[in-house]
Amino acid sequence: IGDSADFDEEVKSICPFCGVGCQISLKVKDGKVKYVDGINGPANEGRLCVKGRFGFDYIHHDHRLTKPLIRRDDAPAKGLNVDPGNWSEFFREATWDEALDVAAKGLRDIGGRGVAGFGSAKCTNEEAYLFQKLIRQGFGHNNVDHCTRLCHASSVAALMENVGSGAVTATFNEIENADVAIVIGANPVENHPVAATFFKQFTKRGGKLIVMDPRGVGLRRFASHMLQFRPGTDVSMLNAIMHVIVEEKLYDEQYIAAYTENWEAEKAHLADFTPEKMAAVCGIEAEVLRDVARTFAGAKAAMIFWGMGVSQHIHGTDNARCLISLALMTGQVGRPGSGLHPLRGQNNVQGASDAGLVPMFLPDYQSVMDDGVRRAFTEVWGSEDFSAQKGLTVTEIMDAVHEGSIKGIYVLGENPAMSDPDVEHARDALAKLEHLVVQDIFITETANYADVILPASAFAEKSGTVTNTNRQVQMGRRAVAPPGEAREDWWIEVELAKRLGLGWSYESPAEVFAEMKLNMRSLNNITWERLERENAVTYPSLSETDPGQAIVFADGFPRPDGRARFTPASIIAPDDVPDADFPMILTTGRQLEHWHTGSMTRRSTVLDGLEPEANCSLHPSTLRKLGVAPGGHVRLTTKRGSIEIMAREDRAVSPDMVFLPFAYVEAAANILTNPAVDPYGKIPEFKFSAVKVEAAVVV
Ligand code: SF4
Repeated sequence: IGDSADFDEEVKSICPFCGVGCQISLKVKDGKVKYVDGINGPANEGRLCVKGRFGFDYIHHDHRLTKPLIRRDDAPAKGLNVDPGNWSEFFREATWDEALDVAAKGLRDIGGRGVAGFGSAKCTNEEAYLFQKLIRQGFGHNNVDHCTRLCHASSVAALMENVGSGAVTATFNEIENADVAIVIGANPVENHPVAATFFKQFTKRGGKLIVMDPRGVGLRRFASHMLQFRPGTDVSMLNAIMHVIVEEKLYDEQYIAAYTENWEAEKAHLADFTPEKMAAVCGIEAEVLRDVARTFAGAKAAMIFWGMGVSQHIHGTDNARCLISLALMTGQVGRPGSGLHPLRGQNNVQGASDAGLVPMFLPDYQSVMDDGVRRAFTEVWGSEDFSAQKGLTVTEIMDAVHEGSIKGIYVLGENPAMSDPDVEHARDALAKLEHLVVQDIFITETANYADVILPASAFAEKSGTVTNTNRQVQMGRRAVAPPGEAREDWWIEVELAKRLGLGWSYESPAEVFAEMKLNMRSLNNITWERLERENAVTYPSLSETDPGQAIVFADGFPRPDGRARFTPASIIAPDDVPDADFPMILTTGRQLEHWHTGSMTRRSTVLDGLEPEANCSLHPSTLRKLGVAPGGHVRLTTKRGSIEIMAREDRAVSPDMVFLPFAYVEAAANILTNPAVDPYGKIPEFKFSAVKVEAAVVV
């Protein structure tokens, strides 16, 4: 793609894919992005992975929405597949005025708690802020959420509970100051590839990398210890490691006394979790568990990184509680080379959560139940008070549609018809809605159900800030114009809000950012002008010249008495355990070349060229038993549904497991997944379903 010497202009922006937040330079010619280079951002230091470097030409794809669309009166039933290149049987073109009027009227007519909103971690901080404000101010309640609910909500719940803050305590780059690091339930080589390069370098200079995952993920080749534990047994394994630290008195007594609470309860709770007993549960030998405990506790500086293998369980919050306890008991928070770091998924899932795009918190994780907090916001907004009740989460909203209490949804940049667990349940809910407004850049699977589609902008077509996994607020810049009549998302939100009677008059994202700062202390000392100049500032920033604090909580925590808390965790079995009918374990995730529901990367020439076909991975012995050759097809069936898909041979997957990427609409992984959720983070158990695997005959 592109000729590296042939461009008219270069524009600095941020990669739109993962939470690493690599800074990029977009090379533009004749109004089109021709190619992309990595530049020297704080997270990437010039590096890019294949998605950042080659995953951009979807922005000029023929399928881009260029005009507002309204469902035709004589359209076939909602939910039928709309050809994104030929939609005229289903929709008619409309002017912006007409489409916005119809969109707003439908939502207004339903009104109040009958309306919910799904925002997006793909949009900017300003757009996320406006979205939650529109639902809260416009409909008086908190039924607004986004894909953090499917990603790290349980990690955030555990961090808020025990550390007092939902963000990382140290940037991933701090690994260069560590001598030991744990990476658990994460596959950075595929999902956070540039972060993975720093992890590999850490091992090259002698750092000990402890990798824990039911799959033999790519980092195992660099690991001092690879613990391929049984899926869903994280708590037993982590408690056994902590048991050894207690038993052998390897904990940091001074740190515990100065900065924590509830230690005695944690210590007592761990007494039963001997490595010998837990080895039978998690499948890791007792001596290995002891060695890992000694290695971690013996480190001068150690970090813990985790991904969705930890969070996407009905016990995801408990998993994260264990990791927090492990860091606290060894005093591995708040110093160079130490810390807790949930590797955030989407490029702006941290920022969207910070901006209040969640049903229980206003911006900066301020509780909606706090009267003073709501007053502070409504004063700035010049509006009436709204509900003090926590709103519904992504999956609860779909249940509420089935129950009949939610009748209208405004979806900005999310694709629940692909991303929700037990997706047929979500699709049935979307089909039941009286009014669905979808704002996106393509006709997504969710837009198949839309009454109105509002054509939005891709990342290279708008300016705004995004916040990466490192708490780095970074400036994205408009490099090219949106196609046809497509508009920037913030503009669409403002126009819709005007028609809902909210009296908004923002004229730029900078104006929105200035309003956000009024009630977000995390943005102190960070201004739009500063970001224009410096491209990135880490929060918290202590002065107008401070680039921001890479490490936080050196002197206590934002909790009562400044103390972090130990919250003991017990073993809870996965919800959908294998039996005679469904004897294997299904786990879902991403693969390097594709992003989430595939709407962008499957329209990127290079990425789709590399991975053009839906696939799953099985151990060679499993394939042999099934009589299926690598590249042949299998049928996967769970209690929710069935798909047929090409099978790859992969020794990294244990013989009783199947790994299934979720980017492929033609074999949608979420037809199979279990909607049971973690009680605290309300995150579904995407990482564990009982499944039957059979040979399939493809005709
Ligand atoms: Fe983009 Fe993430 Fe790859 Fe960086 S590591 S280029 S942010 S996808």
